[in-house]
Amino acid sequence: MQPFTYHQSESTADAVRALTSPVAVPLGGGTDLLVAMKEHIAHPETLVDLRRIPGARAVELHDDGSARLGCAVRIEDLAAHAGITKRYAALAQAAAAVGTPQLRTMGTLGGNLAQRPRCWYFRGGLPCFKNGAADCLAETGENHYHGLFTTGTCHAVHPSDPLVALTALEAAVEVTGASGVRTLTLAALFEGAAQRPEREVTLAPGEFISAVLLPASAAGGVQFYEKLMQRGAWDFATVSLAAHRGVDGTVRMAFGGLSLGPCRVNPSVEEDVTTGDLDDDSIDALAERAMYDAKPLEHNGYKVWQAQALLRRAMRRLDPL
Ligand SMILES: Cc1cc2nc3c(=O)[nH]c(=O)nc-3n(C[C@H](O)[C@H](O)[C@H](O)COP(=O)(O)OP(=O)(O)OC[C@H]3O[C@@H](n4cnc5c(N)ncnc54)[C@H](O)[C@@H]3O)c2cc1C
Repeated sequence: MQPFTYHQSESTADAVRALTSPVAVPLGGGTDLLVAMKEHIAHPETLVDLRRIPGARAVELHDDGSARLGCAVRIEDLAAHAGITKRYAALAQAAAAVGTPQLRTMGTLGGNLAQRPRCWYFRGGLPCFKNGAADCLAETGENHYHGLFTTGTCHAVHPSDPLVALTALEAAVEVTGASGVRTLTLAALFEGAAQRPEREVTLAPGEFISAVLLPASAAGGVQFYEKLMQRGAWDFATVSLAAHRGVDGTVRMAFGGLSLGPCRVNPSVEEDVTTGDLDDDSIDALAERAMYDAKPLEHNGYKVWQAQALLRRAMRRLDPL
């Protein structure tokens, strides 16, 4: 691995200053970044550790049901936090579904959202789109774990479980940089992820995710996360689903394993599930409609069936009747 400088930030201003260097990148737990450096797909010269910034590890639950989760909150802390488990069960379940206990102990929320795709062509250093070539090698190659809803050249999927729950809960991110603090929807954070080789998030140079913001509407109701994997012990999702019926009855659902960013279930399906009173035929019809725009590649058609199976189960759990 190439040599690098480690910078431990003691404040937000210090991190912003350190990240103005074009060869510096944010560091969370390092569980993805250091591996990517060893794989020669990341070449930073300075790693700016965000974990000691005051508030970076704080879980702030507000009285109105909203929350602010610091960027360096550990995945394990999300999974085990009593308040998160009670208010945002889908997020706690998604965090508990991440990798192994070691990864959950080291991995942070910001790093989990900004981690790079696990595509074997990309990680193997092959000449694919994310490695600077013109085409995605998975399009006609080994694409068993690639996406169904691809919005660009790259067919990889985002590996994060928490991202799926945060999408269903309509979370946003707080982004900090030299020009101040701004708030982005998750859709805006990942806009154009499959069309950009160098990274998936839309952060400007020097910016970092300083917090994840959950709206009051994300708290309570019926919510859960379900993840399908090729093997039971630990793995990335082939397909996953987060579902939430809010206390006002509104249903929001999101898939994982199907695209390189947040992937909300077709809003017209969400609306019909919100209305409820679904019989078996209407559940089947809605599961079909949700996958109408899916574009399977040669080896990943099974994901359509997995997504529909998860959706049918979720609709039965969410239907209040
Ligand atoms: C074997 C293995 C299995 C895994 N399984 C799963 C799984 O099942 N589900 C899942 O969700 N994840 C899984 N992961 C991913 C793991 O959860 C991530 O590695 C971890 O969440 C990344 O967090 P980190 O804090 O270590 O990030 P780091 O490695 O520190 O950083 C990752 C990337 O994000 C950037 N970054 C870090 N913090 C910020 C920030 N605040 N703002 C902007 N950019 C930032 C870094 O510069 C780097 O590019 C797995 C990883 C491995 C190695």
